[in-house]
Amino acid sequence: MKKPLIAGNWKMFKTVDEAVTLVQTIKAGVYKVTDCDVVICPPFTALAAVSKILADGPIALGAQNIYPATEGAFTGEISPIMIKNVGCRYVILGHPERRQYFHETDDFINEKVKIALKYSLIPIVCIGETLAQRDNRQFLEVVKGQFDQSFADLTKEDILRLVIAYEPVWAIGTGKTATPEQAEQMHSYIRRLLNEKYGGEVASRVLILYGGSVKPDNIGLLIRKPNVDGALVGGASLKAESFSQLVVLAAEQSKVEARK
Ligand code: PEP
Repeated sequence: MKKPLIAGNWKMFKTVDEAVTLVQTIKAGVYKVTDCDVVICPPFTALAAVSKILADGPIALGAQNIYPATEGAFTGEISPIMIKNVGCRYVILGHPERRQYFHETDDFINEKVKIALKYSLIPIVCIGETLAQRDNRQFLEVVKGQFDQSFADLTKEDILRLVIAYEPVWAIGTGKTATPEQAEQMHSYIRRLLNEKYGGEVASRVLILYGGSVKPDNIGLLIRKPNVDGALVGGASLKAESFSQLVVLAAEQSKVEARK
């Protein structure tokens, strides 16, 4: 098992003061954990304050979005240079909420992935089907389309520098988690797509996270699946206790696997 990654997406929650309190408590809760990588993605307004608190430790900072240009007349947008400058290593791209509410397309996400890589940010690229697409048994085809377009023109070196998050839209913020079997089916399919395009060596090294109502009581079974390398967590990342627990549980599982 690869070292798991747990990433917290705080979405549009937390003022600067609230973010500072939350990140300090998370830091205290996970400071002993070495067998799991951790990323926290606060809203833009809290990045600078959270960055200062994380500066001396292993928890990485991420943003939730960027605009695909270095600078310019794009009112209300934030560039990759700006988030890099404030201490971000990661950026979430193509989150289902951005696809749904802001009509982001795979081509636009592809532009963002390329510019993020250009500025040495690690994109966490979300792909996943809606409930209707799952019910119509189109989910593999939909995810393949997102994969092909979001990762168009990327080289082996590029793909090794990003993280994929499988986020079934029907499981995000709904309390409905994909079963570990449903997650594994899609993760192994994504691994197969990676294999076909970039070869087995690359495919085995890319981290594929699961996202969708992950909580301390379901992480254990999900992370035990061979192709689930961690989680992108929304709701449960907004409370220090549940997020720290997720990190500890993922780390424990990785130790168990390492002993096998
Ligand atoms: C997310 O925001 O990426 C997410 C998976 O949210 P939740 O964990 O709340 O479903």
